[in-house]
Amino acid sequence: MSLQQRDKKHIWHPLTQHQTAAPPIAIVKAKGALLWDEDGKEYIDGIASWYTAMYGHCNDHIITSVSKQLKELDQVVFTGFTHEPAVQLSERLMAILPPNQQKLFFNDNGSTAVEAGIKMALQYHYNKGAKRDTLIAFEEGFHGDTFGAMSVSGLSVYNGPFEEFFLKVVRIATPTTEQPDALLAQLEEILENNNCAAFVYEPLVQGAAGMKFHNAMGLEQLLKRCKHHDVLCIADEVMTGFGKTGRNFASEYLDTPPDIMCLSKALTAGVAAMSVTTCTQQVFDAFLGETISKGFFHAHTYSANPLACSAAIAGLELLTSNAIQDDGERIYQKHCAFAKRIKKHPKVASVRTMGLIFALDLALETDRYGAVRDLLFAHFMERGVFLRPLGNTIYILPPFVTTDQQLEQIYGAVESCLPLV
Ligand SMILES: *Cc1c(COP(=O)(O)O)cnc(C)c1O
Repeated sequence: MSLQQRDKKHIWHPLTQHQTAAPPIAIVKAKGALLWDEDGKEYIDGIASWYTAMYGHCNDHIITSVSKQLKELDQVVFTGFTHEPAVQLSERLMAILPPNQQKLFFNDNGSTAVEAGIKMALQYHYNKGAKRDTLIAFEEGFHGDTFGAMSVSGLSVYNGPFEEFFLKVVRIATPTTEQPDALLAQLEEILENNNCAAFVYEPLVQGAAGMKFHNAMGLEQLLKRCKHHDVLCIADEVMTGFGKTGRNFASEYLDTPPDIMCLSKALTAGVAAMSVTTCTQQVFDAFLGETISKGFFHAHTYSANPLACSAAIAGLELLTSNAIQDDGERIYQKHCAFAKRIKKHPKVASVRTMGLIFALDLALETDRYGAVRDLLFAHFMERGVFLRPLGNTIYILPPFVTTDQQLEQIYGAVESCLPLV
């Protein structure tokens, strides 16, 4: 029996309508920017497996670090215990995060990083004796699939059946200009008329919305208004973190740092599910007291798993290396050159680049998971390029180690799809 047939027997895949979906492609091997399927066909991983394997698959430096850790300490409860990989990771992360970030809480994935961030914000106000029950979030944001994270997400394809069970959220548009006066007025009204606890946002780039960019100065002003009302700013950098926007974190483009940050995906360089939620000393201090109930009673069994931490430490060593920083610049320059070449094509409505992110919108209207998307996906895969178009957006977010030749192959696949749409 083929892997596909065995898969079909018991496995329920994510984001999949099993009645109509094509069978999944069985991947047997990965190295650097490449994936191989069971028939030996090679694909360039043009989105670094959802922006996780940013330093390349099966990276030797990561393998060495995790293998060594696996022989030392595999797992221990993180309530009442600690260990070197967790402590070292906290030290190394704090060294590159905005300086107001002082405390780090471990979770299992991006959704639970956001979930913990929301709970922290709600309890922060509760512990201070204030009843704050409303969250502010951007339209079209994506923050994950657990209930709190889903509540702040604004992409209705995921949310339909659950909407009536959501937390209380008011939504605002993303700032498109440096002076978002109307938006600021709307935010001010929301802040005046609700008991707002936190503002959850993807800084500068909304990934799942189709790599939509928004204005940094405009965002800055929204954050300032929120801070003025003691509304905690929660930056969801699960996608944008670790160099993808051209800086280590997208929040570095702003003068106003977040109160809480959520990190996952590339955190563990594509080898383990782990996330962290970091916060300021001020947030942490609101949980101190003589009564146990003032503490943050939230835990995941695999919190701070030593193997995941060792992968993250090795990942940070790579991120801050000259080689990876140079690769980031090289890919950005290649993206810009490609953008220039393709933006006048009649089928292309707009092109944008930031760091490792390249995105283009096709000049057509289409459903997020419609026929055009399927056609494009098949076209790319046939050419040995793995990309996941979203609606009319085609985006590339390759691993740092993608070679120039591999980039050209990705660009070629994108260019050659245009006559088809
Ligand atoms: C992927 C993503 C999440 C959810 O992360 P999971 O690990 O899939 O739970 C949350 N926020 C953003 C911005 C993401 O891109």
